[in-house]
Formats: sequence, structure tokens, C-alpha cells
Amino acid sequence: MPTQTAATPPRVLGLYDEPFWRHMKDDGRMHLQCCRDCGAWRYPPGPACHACLSPASDWKPVSGGGELLSWVTFHKQYLPAYPAPYNVIAVRLDEGPTLISNLIEDPEPDQRPIGRRVRLKVVAMADGVALPRFEFAD
Ligand SMILES: [Zn+2]
Repeated sequence: MPTQTAATPPRVLGLYDEPFWRHMKDDGRMHLQCCRDCGAWRYPPGPACHACLSPASDWKPVSGGGELLSWVTFHKQYLPAYPAPYNVIAVRLDEGPTLISNLIEDPEPDQRPIGRRVRLKVVAMADGVALPRFEFAD
């Protein structure tokens, strides 16, 4: 990833997003909503479980491990904080939810990264925002 030169774009927070970002910054770990009744992980967070409709949940840390589902390199710059080229990935966490993020190091063009193991690394941006990013685990 190129070096950040501008402020991280402001996050648009939903009603249930604050704990995700608080844990990221305060603990340096990712926490996701987990159903207190059936154990299903919820992402994005919401008012009720998608599996059993229970409103009860806790914020629990995830392992940080996952599998790379897809990736793309953007060659056009859309935001000042993300100079092109930069990658965008989809990761399925070991707990089940799928996240959109970035790889810290761009994959080589001849690599076939889909299906490879990745691990979460919380990265402090130059302006102090803690972002979830991933690196290859193998
Ligand atoms: Zn549930």
C-alpha cells in the first residue's frame, strides 16, 4: 500500500457501529457482535440476530484469521488518503462474516492469492484512525 498522505475519510457510522471502532482503537483488536442466544456472529452489526432473531448480543473478539475470497487493484484514485494503485480485498473471517478491507502488502501480479490464509493486523493511520487490514498468514 502507498503511504498515506491525507486524512482517513470519515466513517459513516450506523446505529450499531460504535463498539466495532472503539475496540479497534482502544484494544487493537476486532470485536464483532455475537448472538447471546445462538452464538451466530453478526456483521454488519444490527438490532437482531439473522439466525434466531434474538436481540441479545455481546461484542466478542474474533481470531483475526480468515481466507482471502477476492481482490482487485484500483488504478484510479478516488480519495486523497488512498493514492492509486491500491488493493481492495474480501476476507471471510474464520467466524463466518465477510469483510472488505486491504492487504498491507500488494500481492505480486503473478500470485494467485484467492484462497490464501490471511490474518488481521490493526493499522494506525497517520491521523490516528485504527483500520482493520490484512496480511498473508502463510
Ligand atoms: Zn441468534
